[in-house]
Amino acid sequence: MNLILLGAPGAGKGTQAERLQTERGLVQLSTGDMLRAAVAAGTETGRKAKEIMDRGDLVSDAIVVGIISDRIDQPDCGKGFILDGFPRNEAQARALDEMLVEKGKELDLVIEVQVDEKILFDRIRNRAAESAAATGSVRADDNEETLRNRLEIYRAQTAPLLPYYKAQGKLHSINGMQPVDSVAKQIGALLDEVK
Ligand code: AMP
Repeated sequence: MNLILLGAPGAGKGTQAERLQTERGLVQLSTGDMLRAAVAAGTETGRKAKEIMDRGDLVSDAIVVGIISDRIDQPDCGKGFILDGFPRNEAQARALDEMLVEKGKELDLVIEVQVDEKILFDRIRNRAAESAAATGSVRADDNEETLRNRLEIYRAQTAPLLPYYKAQGKLHSINGMQPVDSVAKQIGALLDEVK
């Protein structure tokens, strides 16, 4: 089972992907997490990505497509994977379609996690406060100004993927404004339906 979680920043994709990883043995592939790891490790990719990420802009398609393609080739992804934060524009979606054909894999479904924008601002504020309390540091892009830019990019570049996947008959939308457990239940039901 290979799926995409699609949704604006703060919609809860990461939380739900982690649950699916624990509960169903699917592998979470978060380009944001991978890029943050590259920044922390000081690799060349990380150095190139850092400023772009701090502004909330998109890192180049070539970088993220390469990262995902390499990661999907790892044996643990054979059981299935959850793409979280990728693809984020049509060029990435097309590159994904092509690479899956080349690798002999298929995308089973795309789940849109819908959350109103006002709630996204509240969530990002909370995420920053919780992270500061727990670790003493906050993601550089978890602030209102950057979130505004990230949302604009979501609307302009990522939301057009909804009709793209609808046309492929793969799109399902769920209400992401319910408690984490209810959202997880809705996602679980969709996965069981498709299985
Ligand atoms: P996320 O953790 O998914 O919110 O991603 C954090 C940041 O990493 C984004 O704001 C982008 O700068 C970068 N990023 C993550 N995934 C992608 C992607 N698929 N394409 C381009 N940039 C990305």
